[in-house]
Amino acid sequence: MTRPYNFSAGPAAIPEEVLQRAAAEMLDWHGSGMGVMEMSHRGKEFIAIYEQAEADLRELLAVPEHFKILFMQGGGLAENAIVPLNLSRAATVDFVVTGSWSAKSRKEAFKYAAEVHTAASSEDTGFTTLPDPATWRLSRGASYVHICSNETIHGIEFHELPDLKTLGSDAPLVIDFSSHVASRPVDWSRVGLAFGGAQKNLGPAGLTLVVVREDLLGHALPACPSAFDYQIVADNQSMFNTPPTWGIYMAGLTFQWLKRQREGDASGVAAMEARNKAKAQRLYDYIDGSQFYVNKVAPQARSRMNIPFFLRDEGRNDAFLAGARERGLLQLKGHKSVGGMRASLYNAMPMAGVEALIGYMQEFERRQA
Ligand code: PMP
Repeated sequence: MTRPYNFSAGPAAIPEEVLQRAAAEMLDWHGSGMGVMEMSHRGKEFIAIYEQAEADLRELLAVPEHFKILFMQGGGLAENAIVPLNLSRAATVDFVVTGSWSAKSRKEAFKYAAEVHTAASSEDTGFTTLPDPATWRLSRGASYVHICSNETIHGIEFHELPDLKTLGSDAPLVIDFSSHVASRPVDWSRVGLAFGGAQKNLGPAGLTLVVVREDLLGHALPACPSAFDYQIVADNQSMFNTPPTWGIYMAGLTFQWLKRQREGDASGVAAMEARNKAKAQRLYDYIDGSQFYVNKVAPQARSRMNIPFFLRDEGRNDAFLAGARERGLLQLKGHKSVGGMRASLYNAMPMAGVEALIGYMQEFERRQA
């Protein structure tokens, strides 16, 4: 029996192989007599899990040596405070607002940063476009520039990270990559810090990934809690406090799954990128060719991970969702701030799930005709 296809925006579907493996190891991890949740984070068993997960992630995302990988707690929203507590110093921080998540990040920064500046916003288009980097009004001497590289709710993605140097800024770029981490490679030459909750593409909620350039450590404001001071977290290999051990273990299994993925000549994250491009293209092409469904995002800004779409007749939303559930197509309801539907096509969603969704969308349209 196959499991239903789960289109949740997060917490989201986890590869079945990962779940099976975790189930098999639940009571006894590798003959240790303990499940992972029952182990000391300082014991040799868990240290082995942690070190493997970190090494695999470094390899998968090609994280350079001069970046630290931190496994933290608090999720993306806590990082909205933790980033300015660590990086803002006494200077202005710049925000590019392209949807709900970058707007939330900016709002939180007001509590901690000396000054918050909006360098660009696409609010005037209802967050259906990305403002052209050439038009961004970046502050001189900003401590960092924040973007959300994939807006989960509005379905907007930066397909290329901005190169701040060519825009006249020396500030490090901070990216919230919560909802597309590991869906494509990252150009680290353009990034100072990346953060993301694990619960979309990496594993269960409760683990937060931070990848930070070493020169950005050691500048926390005095009020920064020790457990959230990146320097302290880095100096203690993410074990200043008890880390989210289960989340690290599950992410580690996901990294091993990712390393096994192949698509043509590509493997790992490059294979996922090829697959993700094909999945998203298939669904956007179908929606664009239909008179019944619509996606309102400008084509060049469309996310490969989160695809919001609307029935032209919104009165049929409930019937659409009920029929989808009956066919094993789960969690398609759009975010309440946007409405309509949203199909999240993270790494764990196979092309067969996209085909099943399109098959249902066609059938639903025919039935309504
Ligand atoms: N940033 C983005 C892009 C997200 O999608 C989310 C969660 N959907 C968050 C931040 C917030 O993450 P959390 O709920 O883990 O704090």
